[in-house]
Amino acid sequence: MTRVFNFSAGPATLPEAVLRQAADEMLDWHGSGMSVMEMSHRGKEFIAIHAQAESLLRELMNIPTNYKVLFLQGGAIGQNAFIPMNLLRGKTSADYINTGEWSKKSIKEAKKYCSVNVAASAEADNFTSVPKQETWKADPNAAYVHICSNETIGGVEYHWTPDTGAVPLVADMSSNILSHPIDVSHYGMIYAGAQKNIGPAGLTIVIVREDLIGNALPITPSVFDLKQQADNDSMLNTPPTYAIYIAGLVFQWIKAQGGLTAMETHNRAKAAVLYDYLDSTSFYSSPIAREDRSLMNVPFKLRDEALDEAFLKGAQARGMIQLKGHRSVGGMRASIYNAMPIEGVQALVDYMKEFEKNHG
Ligand SMILES: *Cc1c(COP(=O)(O)O)cnc(C)c1O
Repeated sequence: MTRVFNFSAGPATLPEAVLRQAADEMLDWHGSGMSVMEMSHRGKEFIAIHAQAESLLRELMNIPTNYKVLFLQGGAIGQNAFIPMNLLRGKTSADYINTGEWSKKSIKEAKKYCSVNVAASAEADNFTSVPKQETWKADPNAAYVHICSNETIGGVEYHWTPDTGAVPLVADMSSNILSHPIDVSHYGMIYAGAQKNIGPAGLTIVIVREDLIGNALPITPSVFDLKQQADNDSMLNTPPTYAIYIAGLVFQWIKAQGGLTAMETHNRAKAAVLYDYLDSTSFYSSPIAREDRSLMNVPFKLRDEALDEAFLKGAQARGMIQLKGHRSVGGMRASIYNAMPIEGVQALVDYMKEFEKNHG
């Protein structure tokens, strides 16, 4: 069996140890005589799996007790609608910071439910930086301030936490959750689709401060009413059981690696291998402001885009896949989430050097 180095932005590579354990437990989970996929979500086996996943996530992120952890469906895109539905709390507008493609999607969706104040935008510099907080035109009456902590497509990441005072900060952390320690108490709500840095598609993680829920708009679907889901342990309906199980295995794996501090060290080392090389040559380039570069998604361009296809073909032949940049940006993008080993990034840089030598 040969596994490739998969640089996909999502669904993305998972730790091999997790996949092996899932394979071992596929037909008979812990002597239950069944696969996790076949279990009742209300049976004692799955209740234990679910509780264990939540408790590991709470431990890894040091989530305060006044926050609910929900395992939902509908993806981050679903949350773009459910956030205004749940968090407006009688207010009529919300602040959004526009740092790229994912922010734009959040803004567009929110406009169906409230008035949106784009308090800052990086559009003028083509989304190659994060607007500094001094430049934000925040509305003190906003229901919340929404940010995308890591723009998966554009490759910019907040390396600081905005201070929004009494206005709750809401963050789409789909592509950098669990990549480094954060202080959850600075946020009103954090959400993430699982398929980037956690597990399989189909699971959406929501971490929300208790006092913010319970005032959903009357039109809110019950399964997306955060209060109803919190009151029912995310089991108002059948949750994505297998995805929750795999997420739990990934949480265990992260803990065994040394938790989020170790993840950050590992992620910084990996990103440095790639960015240091990008900065040392003019054959490739990174468009992103240095202090805002993502440690998770690294877009880069070849000096001569006519070579893009040959570059991708050569990478594929060496077992490195999914390096093509998003169609809105072009060029290349290497997604190097928690589960990407440093050997994968080193192999990529070795190949980039070789390609430069042959075509530079
Ligand atoms: C992938 C991604 C999304 C979309 O997630 P879905 O689970 O497909 O809804 C939203 N925001 C960010 C930052 C993403 O990376």
